[in-house]
Formats: sequence, structure tokens, C-alpha cells
Amino acid sequence: MNRIDPKEAILNDHANATIAVRKNESPAGAYPRPEHDRSSLSRESLKRAFLDHLLYTQGKSLDIASKNDLYQSLAHTVRDRLVPSWFDTAATYQKRNARTVAYLSAEFLMGPYLGNNLLSLGVSHEIRLAMSELGLDLDELLRQEEEPGLGNGGLGRLAACFIESLATLEVPAIGYGIRYEYGIFYQTIMDGWQVENTDAWLRYGNPWEIQHAEWAVQVKLGGHTEQYTDDSGRFRVRWVPEKTVAGVPFDTPIPGYRVGTTNTLRLWRAEATESFDFHVFNRGDYLGAVSKKVTSENLSKVLYPNDESRQGKELRLEQQYFFVSCSLQDMLRLQQQRGQAITSFHKSFAIQLNDTHPAIGVAELMRLLVDEHLVPWERAWDITRQTFAYTNHTLLPEALERWPLELFRRVLPRHLEIIYEINARFLNEARIHFFGDETRIARLSLIDESGERYVRMAHLACVGSHAINGVANLHSELLKRDLLKDFYAMWPEKFQSMTNGVTPRRWVALSNPRLTKLVTRCIGDEWIKDWSLISNIEPYADDPSFGGEWRAIKRANKVDLAAVILRKTGIRVDPDSMFDVQVKRIHEYKRQHLSALHIAALYHRLKSQRNLDIVPRTFIFGGKAAPGYARAKLMIKLITAIGDVINNDPDVRDRLKVVFLPNYSVTLGQWVYPAAELSEQISLAGKEASGTGNMKFAMNGALTIGTMDGANIEIREEVGEDQFFLFGLTAEEVYALRREGYRPQEHLARDPELASVLDLIRSGFFSRGDSELFAPLLDDLLHHDPYMLLADYSSYAACQTRVDDAYRDTQGWTRMSVLNTARTGKFSSDRAIREYCERIWKAHAVPVEKMYAR
Ligand SMILES: *Cc1c(COP(=O)(O)O)cnc(C)c1O
Repeated sequence: MNRIDPKEAILNDHANATIAVRKNESPAGAYPRPEHDRSSLSRESLKRAFLDHLLYTQGKSLDIASKNDLYQSLAHTVRDRLVPSWFDTAATYQKRNARTVAYLSAEFLMGPYLGNNLLSLGVSHEIRLAMSELGLDLDELLRQEEEPGLGNGGLGRLAACFIESLATLEVPAIGYGIRYEYGIFYQTIMDGWQVENTDAWLRYGNPWEIQHAEWAVQVKLGGHTEQYTDDSGRFRVRWVPEKTVAGVPFDTPIPGYRVGTTNTLRLWRAEATESFDFHVFNRGDYLGAVSKKVTSENLSKVLYPNDESRQGKELRLEQQYFFVSCSLQDMLRLQQQRGQAITSFHKSFAIQLNDTHPAIGVAELMRLLVDEHLVPWERAWDITRQTFAYTNHTLLPEALERWPLELFRRVLPRHLEIIYEINARFLNEARIHFFGDETRIARLSLIDESGERYVRMAHLACVGSHAINGVANLHSELLKRDLLKDFYAMWPEKFQSMTNGVTPRRWVALSNPRLTKLVTRCIGDEWIKDWSLISNIEPYADDPSFGGEWRAIKRANKVDLAAVILRKTGIRVDPDSMFDVQVKRIHEYKRQHLSALHIAALYHRLKSQRNLDIVPRTFIFGGKAAPGYARAKLMIKLITAIGDVINNDPDVRDRLKVVFLPNYSVTLGQWVYPAAELSEQISLAGKEASGTGNMKFAMNGALTIGTMDGANIEIREEVGEDQFFLFGLTAEEVYALRREGYRPQEHLARDPELASVLDLIRSGFFSRGDSELFAPLLDDLLHHDPYMLLADYSSYAACQTRVDDAYRDTQGWTRMSVLNTARTGKFSSDRAIREYCERIWKAHAVPVEKMYAR
């Protein structure tokens, strides 16, 4: 029989892995150090390694190499230099049986690796010289990298900042996710509209990952369950799946900044299982086998582009289950490999659920423990709850994930049974808490039975976790008050607030080298590891020569961004105008159209008063709209339409410019945040959970115009209210207004300028006479306006006038800009990760023992 049992193959591999690991336990001397060291950081060795990779990995010589060949060779050269510490890190964790944070996220928006890895290794300078001695420009090679767009926006980027901080803080951690073949779509703008193109980021190969076929796992899907009594007389449930797919891990090294730690990002790719193929082969159905193979591989084919809104798509549920099951099986393998009992799993791993996308993990861990490892239910439940913690990311009820019950049963029949059991036990507990209150019991249930029946993933996450957190203080309070109030009433001790943060390595040291140089000259370079030290630049806020350098840096960054804008849009912008920026996903709640209305109003003012003195501004927008979100796409068209008119009107074009930068991404962000002067954070209060873009702007010295929403509140608190342009309703006022009945037209009646702007848009002035084009947007504002643009408009416009006045005072603005940067110490993801480690994960730094690395 030529049929290979994949399970057996995997078991054999496990055995091999164990032998290899035994060797690792011996002292460093037992390591076979390579004869000629492949990982030295000297310039000569870097050059040698680069040329070797060009020849032996890419098969090229310098004179015929493409830019991609050169980039790949450099990337491999750098990866080689991460391997020793990567290896030491794994060996240290294994040996010390270190408590490990497993960060489960369906998205990791990593950004380009090369620059960050050079920074972490501390070899940027040597590499630059090595390349230049070969006649190559490092910056050009850096630009060659295609970033892995494995996320939609803030949530995926948060995961990326967090795993970087975990490594820098030397905390044992592993990021688990999906290796999508196609990341978030590539956005182009045609005739002012968003057009989506596939993102084939793997086209030219990914030099950073290492595939580990020997750690592949099997994942079941569909089918039915059977009850039976096993040989020892135990009641058991068997899941007979409709199909099985293999999950193959691809590992990427995540080095900490200037430490011995290199953690792992482990992303799973779906493949057809061999047994499955052979089964069909044996019936002679070759093409059938191939087509099934393709179906299996669809599981990790594409990232779903819809954040903040449910889809109810079967493939999406399969994707979520796929990566969660792979990851849990992987952790159980590690647990056994470390010689630890399955029942102490919760002591070895702290699993964080980044939103509800991986929440199915609660049921899956129960299944693995109870069905496969024969752990009694109560014990398994105890382990599960002590293992998981859940981060909520949204207050928008329409964004809460729920799966139609029938779909769920079709894909995960065994998990539905387990969820029913969890629910029955949970509701018993709830009935004791809320005696006689059956409406509350119905609200708490894991199953929504109010109409068509659904499985509520946020409820599963809350019930199966020992900690639940929001991502900014306001957000956490609103969770307790509204969205999760019944859970809060039952378990107040589970609720925490963990304000988000971003990594100062990528978002300052790497993307703003000029600022890095100035700050380092003044206060040393320790701030790169400890961003709270940035407060030491505060005394320079009133130093005129420092202020002059500060302004020169901002101007140089603006010149750089202007070149990017010219290249991507053909629009020439003036680096001496104010750069007013709103970059983020396009969404009604984020209110890019509020800014668009104000720009149209400025234009209207300038046309009616020719000599009006306003500060020249360049309005820069960027962001993707979900492909199925028509209203968001129309918002893009509104911005580009207003831009087309303004940019081509000789009366105003030296004073106003409007740019829509296509395909906003981490790569673009690294140009945008350092060049911004005004950061637009104008969501309706109570809608933005935290925001992290707001932090990147402030760290780079932009001032914020913003509402009392998400982390804006905390940024304002830190930088001081005089350094923040506040406008708009508070969350409380939004609630009050909604309670008493919001009538947008009343606000319109009080603001004639706003009324004339809406009329101008409706007249077709910005749409070549097409008065229908923007009607859906305008009608909605007049009759519903769920995000209360009309209520906030006057306050916003008045605040923008204050911004103008402040900008005219060059020294005053510079001072405010310095103070913004100096007072953002709190917003490093290092601070956030320390809080998670102390309050949720109970995880500690485990410095890596150097064996391979020097
Ligand atoms: C930081 C970041 C975001 C999140 O921005 P918000 O303004 O917080 O919504 C989205 N996309 C990219 C590429 C980012 O770097």
C-alpha cells in the first residue's frame, strides 16, 4: 500500500524533533559552531555574505542582478544574522520551560522587515557602507521590499507593534496567525474612485520566512459527530469530519531591539493532506484530487478586507478555526516536547485573543483537552479559562461577530455541541447571579435567539477568558456600561483597560531618522529602548536653536513626502504649506467627510472673498474602503472630486491643495507620520475604540485636532490641553442628544456656511454637473446623520480657525510640537506590553542565554 498516513509521519517528526532538542540541553560547547562564521557583522563579512547569496541563492552576479535579486540577497544576509539569536531564544525557552505569551491574531500588519531588522541588529551603518562599497544604495534596496499586507488597519498593526515590543522586552512570546497568499487588496484610484487589485506579495519570494513542514498539523472541518464507549468504558465523542486540511507553519524571526531575544511569528498556510489526495488518487480521479487540493488551499488564500462589519461567510469561519486549531495543537506539541503535563497547559501559555476572530479557540481547547486528551470537563474548563484573555476592539454593535447557527453546525459540528454545553453551565451560573431575570439571561446567552439564531463570538470570548480588556480608558468604560454590561455585572473583576501603544522603533527611530539624530544628540539614545525618556527633550521646547533644527527636520520630512506625493499622484504640493493629514481606513464613523465638508467650505470662502488671508494648507488623505462598503467608496470620490476642482482652480491653488494618496500602508505611513503637522482624529465621540495613528502622529510632533474619543482623550491629558485642538460633542453629549432625538436639520439651520457647502455639492459643482452622484451621502446627512457630522461641524470649523492662528505663530507652534513629542511617553507599546504582562499574562522577561550568538 502506497498510502502515507500523515499522522504517523508527523509523529515520526515529533520524535526527531525531540532528539534534536535533547542535544540542545547540553552546554554551549556542544554546539557545532560553523567552521567559517556565516553571521559576523563586520563589513567584509557582510559584503562576502551578500555576494554569496547573490550567486548561490539568486543565481546572479552583480552585473546582471535585478533590483529584486539585490534586495533578496541583502535580506538573506540579514536573516542569516538573526538565526543564531533565534536559535538561542528557542533553546532558552525550551530549557527554562518559560511561560510563553501566545498572541492569536487573524491579522499582522508587519510592514517591511529589512529596515527594522537592521535597526534591531544595530548594523544599519555597516550595511550602508558595505553596500556603497559595492556601488549600491541601501535606501534603494529598502524601497524594493514589498510589505506583507496581512491586515486591514489598526488591529493588525497593533499585533505587529505588540510582538515587536514583546521581543524587545525579552518576554517569551509567539505570534500566531494566517499566512495569507493575498494580503489586503492593493488600492489604485481611477477617475477618483477606489479600484481594488490583488496583492500578490509572495510573487518574488519571501526571504524572511522559514517553512517547517515537519511541524504540520491536521485540521478537521464539517461532517458529524458520533457518541461511543471506548475500550476503557468511557463515554466519548468522535468527530467524523467531511474533510481534513493540513496546516503548515511558516516562521519569521522577530528580533528585539539590541537584545539577545529573537521571537517567532508563526503563520499557517493551508494545504491538502496527503491521505486525502491518495484516497482520491486510488479511485483514479486525478483531476478531482487536484481540484480538492485547490479547495483546501483556498483556506489561507485571501485576507477578508472587511473590518468593522460582519460577513457571515463560511470560508471566513473556516479560516478562523483553521489557524486557531493549528496554533493550539502547536502549543500542545510544545507542552509535551517540554515534558510538561497537559493539565498544566495554563501555566505554560497565556493566550491573548486579538478581538473575537480567534475566539473559537475557547471551544477548540476544550475539544482538544476533553475529546483528545481525556481531561474531565470541569478540569478542562478551569485550564481553558485560566489560559485565555480577550481584547475587545470595537463598540460598533454591527461589527460584533456572530455566526448563523446552521452555518456554524455545518462547519464545526463538534464545537457547536461544546458551545451548547458551555452555555448551559454558564447560564446556570448566571441564573444564580440574576435570579428571575430571564431577559438578562437571554441577553447573556452564547446563542442569540431573538430571530434567526446565531453564535455570539464575543460572548464565547468573555465566558472563556479570565480577563477582558478595552484598548483605551473611555472604550473600557463604555464596554462596561453598554456593550458588555451584563458580563460586567456578573464578573466586574475580569474587566481591565489597556491603552494601546505603538513601537517607537519603527514609528520614530526607523521612519524619522532626522528626528532620531537630533534627539539622540540632546539626550542620548536610550529613548529608543525606553520611550518614557523622551520627556528629557521637554527643556528644549523653548530653546530657539533647538526649535530651528526641529522645524528644519519637519520641513525636510515634508519635502520627502512631497516627492512621494508627486510620484504617486502627479500632484505638486508646497512643503511650506501646512500638512494637514487624515490617514486611516475610510469609514463613516471616522468622518473623513467631515473634513471634506470643511475643505469645500474653505474653498467657498476663498472664492467669495478673494483676498481672504488663510494659512496655505495641503490636505492629505489616505486609506482603503472595504470593497463592499459603497458609502465609504463614495467618501473617497467626494474627497478626490473636491480635490480635482481645488487643485485646478488658479484662484486658490497656491493656498489649498487636496491629495488622496493611493494604497495607504505601513510603508507609506513611514513617510506620512514624520511629515505631518496637523493630525486629524475626528471620529464621533464614543465610536473609535482607541486609535493608534493618533499616537504615531503625536510622537512625530504633529498637533492633533480631535474629538474626545478613544485614546485622543489620553493624548490630550498627557500633552496638555493647550497643545491639543479639541472640538465636538463628548460621548455623554452624544448619548444625551440621541436620547432627546437628534434632528440634523436644526444644526444646519444654525450654520449658513454649512448649508451653502451642502448646496454646492448637491448642485453638481464638484461632479461636472452630476447632481445625483453625492445625493446618497447628502440625503443621509440631512435625514439621519448617524455620525452627527452636522452637530459637530460648526465646532470643527471654528477649531480649524484656531489652528490657523496658532500656526501663524511659528515659534509657538514649534514649542507645542516639541511638547507633543516629549509628552507621549505613555504611548509606547512597551508600556502597554508591560501592563499586559503584569496584570493579565503574569509573564516575565527571560533573557536569552547566548550559545550560537555572540
Ligand atoms: C497605524 C495604522 C493604522 C491605524 O490608524 P488609525 O488612525 O488608528 O485608524 C491603519 N493603517 C496603517 C497602515 C497604520 O500604520
